[in-house]
Amino acid sequence: MYAVTNPATGETINTFESLTDDELQLEVELAAAEFAKWSARTRKDRAAIANRAADLFEERTEEFVTIMTREMGKLSDEARGEMGLVVSIFRYYADNAETLLADEEHDIEGGQITIRRRPTGVILGIMPWNFPVYQVARFVAPNLVLGNTLLLKHASNCPESALAIEQVLHDAGMPDGAYRNLFVSSSKVEQVIAHPAVQGVSLTGSEAAGRSVATLAGKHLKKVVLELGGSDPLIVLDSDDIQQTAQDVVEARYSNAGQACNAPKRIIVLDDLYDDLVAAAIEATKNFKLGDPADSETTLAPLSSRDAAEEVAEQIKQAVADGATLHTGGDLVDDETAFMTPAVLTDVNKDSAAYRDEIFGPVSLFFRVKDVDEAIKLANDTKYGLGSSVFSTDRERAREVGAQIDAGMTYVNQAGGSQADMPFGGVKSSGIGRELGPLGIDEFANKMTIRH
Ligand code: NAP
Repeated sequence: MYAVTNPATGETINTFESLTDDELQLEVELAAAEFAKWSARTRKDRAAIANRAADLFEERTEEFVTIMTREMGKLSDEARGEMGLVVSIFRYYADNAETLLADEEHDIEGGQITIRRRPTGVILGIMPWNFPVYQVARFVAPNLVLGNTLLLKHASNCPESALAIEQVLHDAGMPDGAYRNLFVSSSKVEQVIAHPAVQGVSLTGSEAAGRSVATLAGKHLKKVVLELGGSDPLIVLDSDDIQQTAQDVVEARYSNAGQACNAPKRIIVLDDLYDDLVAAAIEATKNFKLGDPADSETTLAPLSSRDAAEEVAEQIKQAVADGATLHTGGDLVDDETAFMTPAVLTDVNKDSAAYRDEIFGPVSLFFRVKDVDEAIKLANDTKYGLGSSVFSTDRERAREVGAQIDAGMTYVNQAGGSQADMPFGGVKSSGIGRELGPLGIDEFANKMTIRH
């Protein structure tokens, strides 16, 4: 069931019926039937539609801000930031369509080849609620200009975002069949993946959902892109301003109420800095102001749902039972809403679930290490491999330390982040493939070899 439940009040405001099997089949047929016409349009034509979508997302920013704030509790300023990123993604693919999709010519032994990027068919996107417009944008924009037709199963707690996105894309000029929003439960995605016109599936979400969708994609032999969870390390090698470093770390960790896949979740600090940095981080954490996400004075939003908040509170309780020290926060503020005070944990035991698992909420974990080798070893002691960061006054050293972390991305003196022209994605249990930048448009393209 698709429903809007405001996490700041616990009240369910709106509900939507899911599609029947027959209705779902019709939706897939519509996208399949549109593919031939849509993919035959010129690239210039589709780029113009992507540009119009960017204009409309910009014009309708406040409408989306209101939706995101009541649907999943996002701070309105953060929602505005997300919309800015969405606009830039549509512009990037519109402006660069010709270059990114241009034929490549190569000399080979005995002749030449052309590599031509062609669309492949209908692609299914399965997206989460934490950045409900941005996650969809990074799936839609490259595939729109490439010429695939798209089906979107959004998270069941953000149906209004899903409908508003569909409206923008149709108003921008995507034909009905080129983009279809599907209100379906996750148990129905096999019906879509199995359809012969569907050539791929892109999921952003949890590791468990990734495993399930990859199994279906394997069964039906469809291409898959997975953007999954993370437990990103952030290593602090040295600092000439500990207060600022602590502030940077906590802001990155608690943005979006701690619900970002590539937030720094494990902060690894060299021994000589550790005590001062942790003390400064605890103070900075206590300064967050919980409250109405639509209020510009609020600096920490509720989690996306009561269930999510209870799960994170339980993870903290278990970490403490396993020997961790809780310095501040970790409390649910009442019995109905999803507000939780931001938490700082140290001394997390290696046998504890908190050491192994992703904690998707406002909780930072600090680890003390004696030297850089131990820092890299600890950073890599995880099944995840999404992002990572290294902070140091010596940028070159930070870059080389970052390059030794088994992750899809590493950032110097910056804790995570995403931008239209930069590929995004992970390795190990954090996923398969890349979105955004030049790599993102290649995932669902047939990079056809023409020997001549
Ligand atoms: P989730 O439960 O996996 O849900 C994400 C989407 O997958 C929703 O649309 C959900 O539908 C659907 N889904 C869930 N189980 C499925 C299944 N077995 N088969 C098919 N679809 C399924 O994820 P979440 O807990 O909402 O999101 C948080 C997770 O996403 C975190 O682990 C986070 O790190 C990760 N994430 C990763 C990235 C990245 O770029 N790597 C970005 C953002 C978030 P329903 O809502 O109907 O269940």
